[in-house]
Amino acid sequence: MNKVKNIYCVGRNYAAHAKELQNEVPYSPMLFSKPTHALIEAEGQEVKLPGNRGSIHFETEIVIRIGKPFEQGIKVEEIVDSMAIGIDFTLRDVQSELKKKGHPWLLAKGFPNSALVSKFIPFPGIEEMKKIDFSLLKNGEMVQLGNIKNMIFDLQTIIDFTALNFGLGEGDLIFTGTPEGVGPVNDNDHLTLLWGNSILGECFIKFE
Ligand code: ZN
Repeated sequence: MNKVKNIYCVGRNYAAHAKELQNEVPYSPMLFSKPTHALIEAEGQEVKLPGNRGSIHFETEIVIRIGKPFEQGIKVEEIVDSMAIGIDFTLRDVQSELKKKGHPWLLAKGFPNSALVSKFIPFPGIEEMKKIDFSLLKNGEMVQLGNIKNMIFDLQTIIDFTALNFGLGEGDLIFTGTPEGVGPVNDNDHLTLLWGNSILGECFIKFE
């Protein structure tokens, strides 16, 4: 994996997922970020996650990597150099408490290994991506299936919004939001990240 600088994440970017967690569908992109310590590549190994802080949910997402500095008017195909399938691991019970208190999500979203990514592949372009679904298998069973054509805010909107508000440049990653079907992971679960029928990454969950 090339050097990663910032990790941005989009919340509630698929209407069916916003609804499953009883959240409003947003009117502008909702962003948060993760520390770079959260990043890990799924290469078939054991991935350690906290086993004593309530339920941990998988959120399977398209991850794009920015390959050059943002400039006004730059197109997705010019600025994105590669993509991966990622999991935005979330301590769901912790997040519910934080939401009630109106606190930031960092404790629920920023723990080590909470930003899992598959290997990166060259960016195929938006139209090609719309022809290919991404999915997550948990112990061999498909638990999430998504396609970027169902995003509320498309990649261009997310890129422009992120650059305007936070800055965007080479080495930044964006987790672009999860479709519906999020659910818990458990100790020893085997997770497989699929782009169409190709396996881009897999790992085993180890609670500690
Ligand atoms: Zn997410």
